[in-house]
Amino acid sequence: MNNFIKDRARQEIFNINPYVPGKPIEEVKRELGLKDIIKLASNENPLGSSPKAVKTIKKSLDELHLYPDSNCYYLKEKLASVTGIKKEGILIGNGSDELLKLVAETFLNRGDEVIFADPSFSEYEFTAKIMGAECKSIPLVDFKHDLEAMLAAVTEKTKIIFICNPNNPTGTIVDADEMDEFMAQVPEDILVIIDEAYVEYVENSGFPRSLDYINQGKNVIVMRTFSKIYGLAALRIGYGLTTVDIAQAVERVMEPFNVNMLAQKGAAAGLDDFEHVEESKKVNSLGKQFLYGEFNKMGLIYVETEANFIFVDVQKDCQEVFKKLLQKGIIVRTGDIFGYSTYIRVTIGSKDENIRFINGLKTILEG
Ligand code: PMP
Repeated sequence: MNNFIKDRARQEIFNINPYVPGKPIEEVKRELGLKDIIKLASNENPLGSSPKAVKTIKKSLDELHLYPDSNCYYLKEKLASVTGIKKEGILIGNGSDELLKLVAETFLNRGDEVIFADPSFSEYEFTAKIMGAECKSIPLVDFKHDLEAMLAAVTEKTKIIFICNPNNPTGTIVDADEMDEFMAQVPEDILVIIDEAYVEYVENSGFPRSLDYINQGKNVIVMRTFSKIYGLAALRIGYGLTTVDIAQAVERVMEPFNVNMLAQKGAAAGLDDFEHVEESKKVNSLGKQFLYGEFNKMGLIYVETEANFIFVDVQKDCQEVFKKLLQKGIIVRTGDIFGYSTYIRVTIGSKDENIRFINGLKTILEG
């Protein structure tokens, strides 16, 4: 690092741990000279994009010379009718990643504190550190959020508590009773972010009705995304549901054209694509049962998931297993980045992808 950067860049940036993305398919092709690759590393939809979204996007390609609607009017209207949250309480972002950063920019000063679980989604720490906030990470217990310990970590400096529900990378949930109890105890002047990126995959009927907290006027943002079940990760579009006051504050730091036109139109069409959503849920549920069954036969311990990925103990160094799977053209996530050196996180794929993954894993573990 030269002196210019050392002296002139904000000191906060030197505390940031860079985001580790899933290894891209193209990179594996280049590096290993493989052609046939499956990616089970970023919790993408194995069925691909919502066909309705794709059709709408194709029809919109002759409007690329125009700026997008800065207010995302039609998409907000649609989300309002689907969720029952007022249009003015809806935030649309260039991925929910962007919304997390905007919320940090809106609320966090140097020295403020934020609380999140460990391991959980890394963007909470990333966005807090950009703003110079202090991060308190509270270890999961039995792979689940320890809400009691999270509450006990609150000080007068705490501004935000993040709850990833279902949690990435474990797939566990905070259930309705637990969330109610937590919400009853959390001080009113703390913003609670409930990140529901994987909500559509949840099968457990005890999942919280988080939008109720917003309707009760609590300081809550529920974050969701079009990247997962709608299969629109490349478009970069996510949304936050919250109170009108919170939405108006966050919009103050938002770029005027943060969400591109194709994303807005694709997402709105995707919301109507019930068939694709239902099929995606079905494939995920069947894939989950298949993988559980195979892991059981192999004697592997896994965390029961409510999402589209499984955190599984392969009982060997995860980097070694990752590299061997990669040589077979199968990309997964290593657990070491989450503090679990013998675990991998595997996205539930299509039937064929799941079979190929299991066959690859078996060969590696038996070898
Ligand atoms: N939250 C969680 C828990 C996630 O796993 C992800 C995606 N990895 C995101 C948010 C970000 O999603 P988006 O693509 O909308 O930025």
